[in-house]
Amino acid sequence: MAKFGILVHYDFCTGCQTCAVACQQEHDFPVGKCGVKVTEYVYEAEKKPVAIDYLPFFTELCDLCMRRYKNGEEPACVKHCQSFCMQFGKLDELVTDMESKSRSVLFTPR
Ligand code: SF4
Ligand code: SF4
Repeated sequence: MAKFGILVHYDFCTGCQTCAVACQQEHDFPVGKCGVKVTEYVYEAEKKPVAIDYLPFFTELCDLCMRRYKNGEEPACVKHCQSFCMQFGKLDELVTDMESKSRSVLFTPR
């Protein structure tokens, strides 16, 4: 079982894509490849948009930036998130934090 993960409080995600840019630069991924993709969800009422949610989705390319972790640094996406809505840490601690946060998702790698 994975020991680490990333908790995303997506209620505060603005869809700015900075996490994806930071990930691509950190790993030098080619265009179209990334460890995180930000998905937009548009809610409509009477065919008009009434709300939008953004949700960062981690892909199979995400390695939790373990090279950075060994150097005492946060994952690139977490460090550069504009709204501080991403949190890296030990799974048990993140699960505890999640209990007090609404609209959150927890990512764990394979
Ligand atoms: S943890 Fe690292 S590899 Fe995973 S999405 Fe964030 S920047 Fe990319
Ligand atoms: S950097 Fe943060 S606020 Fe911006 S899209 Fe990524 S998770 Fe959302």
